[in-house]
Parts: sequence; C-alpha cells; structure tokens
Amino acid sequence: MDLTSGVPFWLVKGGLPATYPKLDQDRRCDLAIIGGGVTGALLGYRFAEAGIHTVLLEGREMGYGSTGACTALLQYELDIHLTDLTERIGGPGAERCYRLCVEAIAGIERLADEIGGDSDFRRKRSVYLACKRRDVKALERERTARREIGIEVDLLSPSDIRERFSFDRPAALLSRLAGEIDPLRFTHALLAAAGRHGLEAYDRTGVARYQSDRKGVLLETADGWRIRARKAVFATGYNIPPFVPRRSVSLTSTFAFATSPLPTFDGWGEDRCLIWETSRPYFYARTTPDGRAIIGGADQPFKGSHKVDRLQGRQTGRLARQFAEMFPGIVFDVDWSWAGTFAETADCLPYIGVAPEFPNGYVALGYGANGIVFGYVAADLLLDLFLGRGNSDAELFRIGR
Ligand SMILES: Cc1cc2nc3c(=O)[nH]c(=O)nc-3n(C[C@H](O)[C@H](O)[C@H](O)COP(=O)(O)OP(=O)(O)OC[C@H]3O[C@@H](n4cnc5c(N)ncnc54)[C@H](O)[C@@H]3O)c2cc1C
Repeated sequence: MDLTSGVPFWLVKGGLPATYPKLDQDRRCDLAIIGGGVTGALLGYRFAEAGIHTVLLEGREMGYGSTGACTALLQYELDIHLTDLTERIGGPGAERCYRLCVEAIAGIERLADEIGGDSDFRRKRSVYLACKRRDVKALERERTARREIGIEVDLLSPSDIRERFSFDRPAALLSRLAGEIDPLRFTHALLAAAGRHGLEAYDRTGVARYQSDRKGVLLETADGWRIRARKAVFATGYNIPPFVPRRSVSLTSTFAFATSPLPTFDGWGEDRCLIWETSRPYFYARTTPDGRAIIGGADQPFKGSHKVDRLQGRQTGRLARQFAEMFPGIVFDVDWSWAGTFAETADCLPYIGVAPEFPNGYVALGYGANGIVFGYVAADLLLDLFLGRGNSDAELFRIGR
C-alpha cells in the first residue's frame, strides 16, 4: 500500500543521507528488525548498543515510510486527554503513559546529542488551543489532572493568548515539555551510530515470508535470502502485520505543507512554540530551523491512495486558509505539500510487545500522532522483554488489551 503522496519536506531537504547494502546472502542473528523507519532505527540502536547481534531489514530506503512524511512534533500530550485516558484505562495506567512520553522526549534529546549527526532536535513549548467555549472546562480539568501527576502546565486566558499571538481563543494549555526534530536525519543518525555498535542494516530488502519454530524465527526476503534469528520485531509502521486484528486499527489520511522561509513569525509568540488545538480533525503547526512553518492536520478517513491524491490539493488549501487567518502578519507560499497515513487505535495508544499468534515475534507499532515518542518507549520496553527482565508497562501496550 502506498502510504504517502506528494513530496514530504524532509525528503527534499535531506535527500537520501545514506544507502545501505541490499542483502545478498543468508544471515544469522539474535534479533531481526523488519522496518527501517524511526522505530526500527531506535530499536536497532538500543539493541546493538546492548551488544545484541541485530540485523535490520528495510524494503525500501531507510526512513522513506511514514517517518519521512511526518512533521516531527515531539509531544507527551496524546490525542486522548489524560482525563479521558484515565476514564478508559484507569488512573495508574493513564498516568504512566503520560509520564513515559515526558521521559521519552528527554530521552530523545539525550540520544540525539549522544549519536551526533545533527538531528536538529530543539526543545520547544507546546500550546494546545481551545477552539470553542465549551472546551474551556475540559482544559481546566486537564490542567488539574496533569498537575496532580506532577506535569507542570499553565492555563492561558483569552488575554494571555491575545498578548502572545495574533489570534483569539477562549483558553489554551501551555506546556514546557515538548520538542521538534528532523525525523529523517534522526533516523539516519541512529542507524549510523548503531552501525558503529555492530548493527547490520540492509535496505531494498523486503521481508516476504516469516515463520516461527522451536529455534526462533525464519524470515525470507523477496529475493529468497533467509535470516535465522532468535526473535524478530515487526516495526513495519502502517503496513499492519496479519496477526494484528484489522478492526482494532483505523487508518486516516493526514495532510501537511511546508512554507517558504518566512521573513517574520509575526504573531507566533516569542519562541515559535508548537501549536495544536482541540478541534478534531485538528490543525497544528511548528517551525523549522531554516525559518519555515510546517502546517498539518485536516485528517480524513483513509479511502485508498487514489482518493488521497485527489484530496491533497483541497486539504492543503484548507490548512493554508486557517494558517493565514490565524497569522495575518505572515506572508507565505506553500513550497511543499504532501499527504500521509496515520493509524489509530481506540485508546490512541500504540501496540508494543509480544506478537500474538507469532511466537518469538514482537511488534513495535507506534500508532497515533506520537509515533516517534512511542518508538523510543518501544525500544526500551522490547529490550527488557528480550533480555527476560520483564517490564510492567507491557500490559499498557499489549495487542488485544
Ligand atoms: C503527515 C504525518 C505527520 C505526522 N506527524 C507526527 C508528529 O508530529 N509526531 C510524531 O511523533 N509522529 C507523527 N507522525 C507519525 C509518525 O510518522 C510515525 O508514527 C512514525 O514515523 C512511525 O515510524 P515507524 O518506523 O514505526 O514507521 P515507518 O516510518 O512507516 O517505517 C516502517 C518501515 O517498514 C518498512 N516495511 C514495511 N513492511 C516491510 C517488510 N515486509 N519488509 C521490510 N520492510 C518493511 C516500510 O518500508 C517502512 O520504511 C506523523 C505521520 C504523518 C504521516
């Protein structure tokens, strides 16, 4: 399935930072990772660094799936409010999910620094706008709930918002714990660093068949090469493995564009924070170190790649109009626009853990809008499971929960 259309900005900006060999022989290893997006790269780094002989197999080029199409806002705030997640899965689980994401942003910052390669990580503040008066109460409850679990967040009043921005809103949550990154460069920097720890990475090496047996897993590539591993992780993004029940995941088309470099950021506040809102589908915005804005949202239920191509112009127009209304002082051109696919679970949490019906298999499917953050969580969690250490967070992200 073609999961992107148009030209994602990061692919133009970063091109193809590195190519890897195509697998041309049989291999043996402790862990095989299927998928070379940011999740596969995070896993590859964690496992190789821990001294585990790991082979990563990517069907196309590294980072050219959803990773290259994503807008790479790093937020601990999930698409589901902490208050709603608490109702759904209980207080301790909801608190743990939010805390894991807070820790993951700090972890990604450390990692970006440790691996080198300039992934353009930037600490940012994030502003979550109430779109309607009736959202204000929900934001007040959300602020209280987050503060109760030790996450500092402020509620902005209409006058606070007017002072900082060029638009009016009835309320907003201002959070200091957010970031942004170049997802393609980060992925390639991780793979390069993992390579220095012994990761074997192959691109243009699609895995066509896999089976499980007493000795572990046996993978076969489209060219017929075999990989024998003790365990395998499916980090295949929105190419959903057959053992994940389809009805538990809904696919959504999402749209984004990058502006030309902007002469000013009039009305964006002093630190070019991340911006998103309570409306569903939502509008969101970030900036880039080279002075552009990236705008995204306008999600639609996925109805096939052809429909996405047709919708792209219309949805980009919608996003551009909203951007212009919110920031009348910013003059911009749409330089690049593209569409991608999102997958969502009912509770907006990812699937991470053992693969049901595929013994010796794990999944690291960071569905939802926080995929990069959950990729980081997945790497730590699966390393624990692989090493037999157990991990009490596994239940939160279990398939079939
Ligand atoms: C427009 C858009 C905006 C987004 N914004 C954000 C955001 O702001 N913040 C955020 O955190 N997330 C965001 N996301 C989500 C984010 O992109 C994903 O969660 C993340 O990139 C997932 O990474 P991944 O490595 O799991 O998947 P992918 O990057 O899709 O990688 C999976 C890889 O597996 C490979 N593969 C699949 N099957 C096989 C096979 N059989 N053999 C070999 N290889 C295979 C694919 O070719 C692909 O490269 C956004 C997504 C989109 C589309």
